[in-house]
Amino acid sequence: MIRAFVAIGMPPEILPRLDALADSLPMPRRVPEENMHLTLAFLGETPNPVLEEAHLAFEALRAPAFDLELSGVNSFGGTKPRLVYAGVAPNPALMALQKKVTNAARLAGCTVESRRFTPHVTLGRFSPEAADLGRLQAAMVRAATFSAGPARINEFTLYQSHLTADGPIYEPLASYPLR
Ligand code: ATP
Ligand code: MG
Repeated sequence: MIRAFVAIGMPPEILPRLDALADSLPMPRRVPEENMHLTLAFLGETPNPVLEEAHLAFEALRAPAFDLELSGVNSFGGTKPRLVYAGVAPNPALMALQKKVTNAARLAGCTVESRRFTPHVTLGRFSPEAADLGRLQAAMVRAATFSAGPARINEFTLYQSHLTADGPIYEPLASYPLR
């Protein structure tokens, strides 16, 4: 079994902006710059032959390159935030790509959750008890005008996720061109 997900790696011109943004937010478990990405589909623990099928399906997938623009800072978890993220400006091409990737993964035999896709780049995670919510929320208000890009997105990537005591390590397995 391989723990896998499909994502867009952050373009090098956007990464320093995201890193500075994360620096400005007091989060107990900040995502390191090299781990920042935009998840298209979480495949989870996947049998190797199924992942091989998914890889072939991603190779056959056709979708155009597009521009990615990040906008704003938000959190998931309502009054008990557990994840802080940079938002994504409305992007029909990204939404269409996410649908194609999810459909291809399902046809290959992967189980992909069907909850609504909210494109985001995770900046940090925390347990509500551990976090100083007031400080974090004040910093999020200051960061609300954050924007980065547009940057050209020419590919998407299949990653293996290695969960370790020091946090996850994401290993790119294959990338697929958009054109
Ligand atoms: P950790 O689990 O140690 O906090 P992580 O969440 O970054 O680390 P994974 O759980 O392997 O590592 O997740 C890889 C990517 O898939 C991350 O972007 C994560 O947010 C996303 N993800 C994980 N689980 C789900 C899920 N059930 N539904 C949608 N996306 C998910
Ligand atoms: Mg996780």
